[in-house]
Amino acid sequence: MPTTEERNAREVFTSAARVWLQENVPARWREHRGSLSEKETDEIRHEWDRQLHRGGFAGLSLPKEFGGQGLSMVEEVIFHDLAAQAQAPDGLARIGRILTAPSLIGHGTDEQLARFLPKILNGDEIWCQGFSEPNAGSDLAGVSCRAVKVDGGYLISGRKTWTSFAKMAHRCLLLAQTDPSAPRHKNLTMFLLDMKQPGVNISPIKQASGLTHFAEVQFDDVFVADADRVSTEGSGWKVAMTTLMNERGGVEATSRYVEIRSDMDLLLATLGDRPDLRKQLDELDIRVELVHWQVSKAVDLELDSPDFFRATSILKLLWSELWQETSILGLENMTPETSDHWRLQYLETRASSIYSGSNEIQRNIISERVLGLPR
Ligand SMILES: Cc1cc2nc3c(=O)[nH]c(=O)nc-3n(C[C@H](O)[C@H](O)[C@H](O)COP(=O)(O)OP(=O)(O)OC[C@H]3O[C@@H](n4cnc5c(N)ncnc54)[C@H](O)[C@@H]3O)c2cc1C
Repeated sequence: MPTTEERNAREVFTSAARVWLQENVPARWREHRGSLSEKETDEIRHEWDRQLHRGGFAGLSLPKEFGGQGLSMVEEVIFHDLAAQAQAPDGLARIGRILTAPSLIGHGTDEQLARFLPKILNGDEIWCQGFSEPNAGSDLAGVSCRAVKVDGGYLISGRKTWTSFAKMAHRCLLLAQTDPSAPRHKNLTMFLLDMKQPGVNISPIKQASGLTHFAEVQFDDVFVADADRVSTEGSGWKVAMTTLMNERGGVEATSRYVEIRSDMDLLLATLGDRPDLRKQLDELDIRVELVHWQVSKAVDLELDSPDFFRATSILKLLWSELWQETSILGLENMTPETSDHWRLQYLETRASSIYSGSNEIQRNIISERVLGLPR
């Protein structure tokens, strides 16, 4: 239970955040986000990262000494809630904020934290996640991108695929194989690779929606310094597990909740007076709030605890399937005003059951590690 002091502090935070969001969410985004070009969408989202930082709302739960706000997950959830109500955009710095930052806090050096976190939080550096490869997606331990030791660092060669934000990223959180002779899970190392150097070749992949959010990335002898290796050689799997726990965990789900809540509000605003859809809308609305409730439950639990793992493991399934269903209902009942939005959302949300680990894999994890069922 929060103390009176904590409750008061949260109320002050909530009022300040609400006012700030009212004044800062770009009207163009609020009113036209379904019909903006990809370029304009990216510009607004990137500027939003900077606005959050200027307003003191970037990295709410990250340590103050590295540019965060030193608050807790509770404030993260409060802010995301308010952002959903205010129809705020989601910044482009999400990989850095949600994946790189906690991975570095868990495994990086103070020097790495001091060097990278401030630029993630002020929006200067966009990150991508270089995990998946053409032959290693669900079977992440099978990555074959090689890191060969040379004087002062490593040379990276190999191919990553489905790399979101690659075309604009400054850095990549890259999982590579350092020792092919070592046993599985002990042969990998995590790197913080500079994407703006020769040997990094990015080929955007066009999605069903026509957008190009991700790309295939070929690395040809790309140098990464020893100082940009996370933890020790061979500990990449451990670091990757921290990354994935965050990718499937509370902050990611909270930020998805923002987007789903906003879609749900659009459904209610445009279809709320249709008696034939009432039951379906109510059911979806309840499930949207269930995501929120489940996130709030996880917030009070200790990170890395079995309870936290149990509470968050279901989140990915909840939000991804729900998001697909809201977009189907929107598409089936679109109006001339909402047709652009729902067409795009329908195509975009197809991928939500694949990224952040496919839903089949997530079900395997729940059955084996939460329910204790046999393999
Ligand atoms: C929009 C989008 C963005 C992405 N962004 C990134 C990114 O930024 N960085 C990154 O590294 N990756 C990214 N990915 C890749 C994503 O993590 C992989 O697509 C995902 O892990 C699945 O891997 P795969 O595509 O190789 O499919 P596969 O692993 O080949 O799986 C194919 C199918 O088989 C099923 N399957 C596989 N193994 C099992 C099993 N043991 N039990 C049951 N079913 C199984 C899968 O669920 C899937 O349906 C992104 C993907 C998408 C769609």
